[in-house]
Amino acid sequence: MNANALHATAQPNGHDVAHSEAWTQRYTHSVMDTFGAPSRILVRGDGVYVWDADGKKYLDLLAGIAVNALGHAHPTLTAAISAQLGTLGHVSNFFGTPTQIALAEKLLSLAKAPHDSRVFFTNSGAEANEALFKIARKTGRSRILALEGAFHGRTMGALALTSKAAYREPFEPLPGGVEFLPFGDLNALEQAFAHDGNDIAMMIVEPLQGEAGVVPLPHGYMAKARELTSRHGALLALDEVQTGIGRTGAWFAHQLPHIGEGNTPDVMSLAKGLGGGFPIGAVIAFGPTATLLGRGQHGTTFGGNPVAAAAGLATLGVIDRDNLLHHVSELGGHIKSSLLNLKHPLISTVRGEGLLIAIELSEEYAALLQQRALNAGFIVNAVNPKTLRLAPPLILTLEDIQPFLEFMSALPHDPTTLTAETQE
Ligand SMILES: *Cc1c(COP(=O)(O)O)cnc(C)c1O
Repeated sequence: MNANALHATAQPNGHDVAHSEAWTQRYTHSVMDTFGAPSRILVRGDGVYVWDADGKKYLDLLAGIAVNALGHAHPTLTAAISAQLGTLGHVSNFFGTPTQIALAEKLLSLAKAPHDSRVFFTNSGAEANEALFKIARKTGRSRILALEGAFHGRTMGALALTSKAAYREPFEPLPGGVEFLPFGDLNALEQAFAHDGNDIAMMIVEPLQGEAGVVPLPHGYMAKARELTSRHGALLALDEVQTGIGRTGAWFAHQLPHIGEGNTPDVMSLAKGLGGGFPIGAVIAFGPTATLLGRGQHGTTFGGNPVAAAAGLATLGVIDRDNLLHHVSELGGHIKSSLLNLKHPLISTVRGEGLLIAIELSEEYAALLQQRALNAGFIVNAVNPKTLRLAPPLILTLEDIQPFLEFMSALPHDPTTLTAETQE
């Protein structure tokens, strides 16, 4: 159904619905309010652009929060999904499928996982982290370490690993045993292992904390975490749900030498970019950790679904074929330096890796700027009051992003004149 057909759709009550405002009203009366009112009603996407129900076009610099790696309606992805759905759309996990097997093999190879490593497929990032949690429990140890600022998802187990009080508190009691360490504090890390270190089942970290505002682990932290977990027989878990699948210019962020510092995890969770927009997540269990969850100890109806696996294979295939890792690190570097070179007083710094970029603002202007950008045709994300996050499709080009750089450059220098509306 194209956008016009959607416009022409009559409501059950007989009213014609043509515009965003009417759709927003229907949303409000039918969809649970957990996300607040939608910014726009989107009806179509093509490459790095999306269109709303009023026909307005936007440059998508968020990509469904680091999901649409190949942008919108990518022909290779669309063809792979359609072909698989038209061949074999779903089977239970009593059966295997060639796409599922091929994707598992591909992920193990990209992760440079040793031969006895294995993959467990899920439908989302939170579910992948739930599986990590269950793997940790199977060590028989009681303590789990996570970091302040961490985001690992909204289901009960994933939430137990997530530090934000506002997300956690209404749902307590959460699964127990999780301790939060101050972010990037090497002393606190050593202290956590100094007493009962052999009772630590798992330490989970994001190589860069995405939801916290694209914050990389400080130099030396990954190496120390790896050293201490290894010494005490604890698992090092990397949540690469946001940073994985080429987002940072490497297949996985920990493969960037200055982020991973040459270290590999024992378990790793993936999702977001993996299906290029089709829901899929995965856990990679390296070496002996692959047998911690035994037969019958975990399961899923949809995880490993052949259509989702076909989406994953197509996404990884295009990243490979089009040399996107190199493109992502080059373009990301260029965007960061262009933003810095604006020397705009509203921008205090720019950070991130590849196409996961944070624009740190001098004051709490992020929500206002997000709104102003949207009105000007750019989708960006106020990840916190002082930070704008960009996580565009990996197929974005320098030419595509130029109008956004001009938008940023044209922002008023005097913040008291900053409004959601552009003056032109
Ligand atoms: C988005 C995200 C999750 C949760 O993934 P969902 O698919 O929303 O459940 C977990 N960890 C990190 C680092 C994320 O960015």
